[in-house]
Amino acid sequence: MPRIERAARTGFCFGVRRAINQLEKLTAARGGVETLGAVVHNRQVLQRLADTGVKVVGDVSDIRGDCVVTSSHGVAPEVEEAIRARGIAVISTTCPFVRRAQVAARRLAESGFFVIVYGDARHPEVTGILGWAQGQGLATLDAKPVAALPRLPRRIGILSQTTQVPGHFVAFAKEVIDIALVKDAEIRIIDTICHDIRGRQAAALELAHRADLMLVVGGRSSANTKVLARLCADVTETHHIETAAEIKPAWLKGKTLVGVTAGASTDERTVDEVMRRLEELAG
Ligand code: SF4
Repeated sequence: MPRIERAARTGFCFGVRRAINQLEKLTAARGGVETLGAVVHNRQVLQRLADTGVKVVGDVSDIRGDCVVTSSHGVAPEVEEAIRARGIAVISTTCPFVRRAQVAARRLAESGFFVIVYGDARHPEVTGILGWAQGQGLATLDAKPVAALPRLPRRIGILSQTTQVPGHFVAFAKEVIDIALVKDAEIRIIDTICHDIRGRQAAALELAHRADLMLVVGGRSSANTKVLARLCADVTETHHIETAAEIKPAWLKGKTLVGVTAGASTDERTVDEVMRRLEELAG
């Protein structure tokens, strides 16, 4: 029967814990509150918050109350302006590490740099950071769109979505340098990857290298959970699950060590349930 081991770092990261604490205080004081988009990308956490009176609205025009909470991923300044223009107060739960990336994007744009964000262009954190670059930038996970620019900007700033893999960011930045470092060019690289994510990825990989099965627990739309699952899958058999109910007993057959890791927005209670279920199955 396999041994079950939890990675050295699981549970909410600092930014998610902070956002949830803010929301819990607000709902207790006001009896309910609206958030613009999902405040974290985890269905179980969102359900628990919904039970306490948190309502997710998809668009600024859907807000019904006199205040709205923006997510830990942050939003572009024009989104906050559109909310305030409707006479609605904004309560931000933007993680300070995301804010650092937003401020870096703003400073680069103000200094005449074209901002390239290494990240998923559809993710709210990335669209928010680009908004702070005042429209002078693009987001991508490969360097092709940079090579395809009609005129290469002379000044280029490179940032990362906070949840990306440090080694992949370095490789991307090198590719951009190869494309864009021509006469008189100036390229500034700012590492905006979050320290929690670095530690979490390193702990997951350390375990994945010893395990013959890894379970990665977290929301299917959670960017950092998906990255963890991809990293582990490069090393050993890996399954991305949201809850203990998804575990298939057949996965454990013939295994000696099953590792468990979790994304930054996965409640430790969900990880505990996964551990309990695995221990039951391992008998
Ligand atoms: S993963 Fe990092 S950047 Fe994202 S919310 Fe958590 S602490 Fe903040």
